[in-house]
Formats: sequence, C-alpha cells, structure tokens
Amino acid sequence: MNITRRHGLAVGLGLATLSGAARAAAPLAKMQAPSFYRTRVGDTEITMLNDGIGTRPLAGFVRNASDAELRQALGEAFLPNDVYTTNYTPMVINTGRKLILIDTGNGEFGSADNGLLLQNFLAAGFTPDQLDAVVFSHFHPDHYNGFRRRDGSLVFPNAEVMVPEPEWNFWMDDARMTQTPEAQRGNFMGARRALGPVARNVTLYRWGQEVAPGVLAIAAPGHTPGHTVFAITSGTARFMMMSDITNNTSVFVKHPDWSMILDLDGEMARQTRHRMLDMAAAEGMECAFYHAPFPSVGHILRTAGGYELVPSQWVARL
Ligand SMILES: [Zn+2]
Repeated sequence: MNITRRHGLAVGLGLATLSGAARAAAPLAKMQAPSFYRTRVGDTEITMLNDGIGTRPLAGFVRNASDAELRQALGEAFLPNDVYTTNYTPMVINTGRKLILIDTGNGEFGSADNGLLLQNFLAAGFTPDQLDAVVFSHFHPDHYNGFRRRDGSLVFPNAEVMVPEPEWNFWMDDARMTQTPEAQRGNFMGARRALGPVARNVTLYRWGQEVAPGVLAIAAPGHTPGHTVFAITSGTARFMMMSDITNNTSVFVKHPDWSMILDLDGEMARQTRHRMLDMAAAEGMECAFYHAPFPSVGHILRTAGGYELVPSQWVARL
C-alpha cells in the first residue's frame, strides 16, 4: 500500500475533531537525552557511554575497496554516503568492587559532535573521583584524548592508569618517533601529551592478565601493535569488549576483509578480526564495539560472506 497525502488527511482530520482547539507548537529538541546504556554480565554491570560521533572523508578510507564500493556499503546500511561517520563508545565496568573505564573518548580535542563522555558518565550516576582505573585498549586519540583537559588537568583524578605493555612500548619509543616522518608523528605526540605527565605511575598490563577481577585482557594486535580486547566474566556469563576489531560495524562486520587505513598492520588486523568475530559467533556471547552505532551492544552472527551484528534488546530493569 502506498501511504498518500489523502490517507494522512483522513487520519489527521479525525484527530483534529477529537483534540479540539490547537495548542502552541512544542519546540524541536534537536538533541538526544543523556545517552548511556546498561547491560549485565552475571553480577557485573556494564554501562556503555556515548561519546558522540565523528566524520572523516571517505576517499581512500578502505585500502582494498574502492570509494564507490564503500559508498555503496554505507548506503546499504542507511548511513550518510558522502562522508564516513563513526560512533565512539567508552564503557564502564562495575564489578561491585571496582569501577573501571575502558577508553576515554575525544574529550576537549574532538569536534562539536563528540567529547560527550564526561557528561554521560555523570548522567549515568557516576562521579569522576569514584573511578578506580582507566584502562586503555590502545593509543589512538579518540580513545585517550578524553583523559586530560586542554588545561592539563586530569578528568578522573584518582584512577589508576592501565596501558597494554606493547602499546606503550611502541608509541612511547622516542627513537621510533624520531625515525617517523614529521607529518606522521601526530599520534606519537598526542600519546605523550595525554599520558606523558603520568608516565611514571602508569601500570603496564600484559595480555592474559586481568585488569580488574573478572576482566581479562586479550591480544588483538593489527589495528595497533598493542590493541587489546577484554573478556568480562562473572559466574558462567561472559561478555566481550571488542574495542577496534572493526571500525563502524555497519560496514566492517559485513565486510571483514576490508582493510581501513587506520589499521597499522592491515593483514594482522584482518586475521584478528576474523578470529574474534568467529569466537563471538561460536560462543554466542554479547559483545560491545567501540565504533558501533550506539548503544553498540549485540551478538555476532555468521553470514554467507561475513558477519552481522544483531543489536541487543533494550531492557529497563537489569
Ligand atoms: Zn578507535
């Protein structure tokens, strides 16, 4: 059936008779409500925090697919296809004893469309001084820039700072930075700006170690040398924080062999992506992705050519 103006009018007229006199128009809000989303893993509570959205030119973003193919994939996902967009979604884990944050969003260094982590952290009922640890999955600016304000002050003053050891060793290596062409040193500099002043107090964690009780750091290199995902376990329940296994899941879960320019080692990232998505599909566990459409939580299904992220159902009471 085609919905026509005539159908609309018929319904509209019916309503007008019922509602009587016209009232003043409500203004458009043009804003979401505070955006956080909770889910539960056994006795552990997860809170996904929306840091907002970012855009970048789509030209050349995928190494092994054309701009036209990327544009088509974005269109098929009903996303803007003149520009590439992605969400940022840090995550709070409350084990009941420890409150930890995985990644810190864009802070004061992003655009008007992001840097919302702190306001959503507060809206979710947490206070910055409650946080026991900030755990970084890897050193890219959309993950560490929310750690420190422009004036240098720390956003989470009491939190232990935990960084994957191979990630620290890669980006904080002065010799490697010096050998890198100046135009490509931005991320070396950014990591120093954010983490340099606390370098002596940083806890370097290793893959296979827990960063908090029930939160296991798992090797997922390729995107960066120390890129880490996290398995959260409580009782028999398990949940995976997939970090940057994929960028926007609407594109890269369906096209797991596409290599985007932000993956430092494209082939290793591709293998890691398949390994993690296979595991998620086989075990049927709920997963979060840092760059999935908010609230960024769902289950992975294997499909003929790739995978699909099936969003979780929103429930009010956990
Ligand atoms: Zn990222």
